[in-house]
Amino acid sequence: MHELGIIFHIIKTVERVGVEHKLSSVSAVSLELGEVSGVVHKELLDCWKWAVKKTELLKDAVLNIETIPARTLCESCQKTYETVQYGRVCPCCGGQQTYLVQGNEINLKEIAVC
Ligand SMILES: [Zn+2]
Repeated sequence: MHELGIIFHIIKTVERVGVEHKLSSVSAVSLELGEVSGVVHKELLDCWKWAVKKTELLKDAVLNIETIPARTLCESCQKTYETVQYGRVCPCCGGQQTYLVQGNEINLKEIAVC
């Protein structure tokens, strides 16, 4: 249950912010999710709906997910390309010395208060 772990982590973070800012309720939380982070959106939303009901602060909060496209940088030609489409081999020069520059992140972006 990778997704549930992420949700608990987000809830904990939001609750900490809630205490710091003396919030009584949160209406929405926005999350940036990398395209190749391995997280299943639907599972994440299901876990969210289940987990927020157990909290006071977040019980009516909606989870918004923004996808960050995955991009890979090629060491040989210094170009970036779409990871999902081309994988580990650079489509420009055929280089295999490539690494992911974005698309693996799970970031808490915004907390909305009603
Ligand atoms: Zn290249």
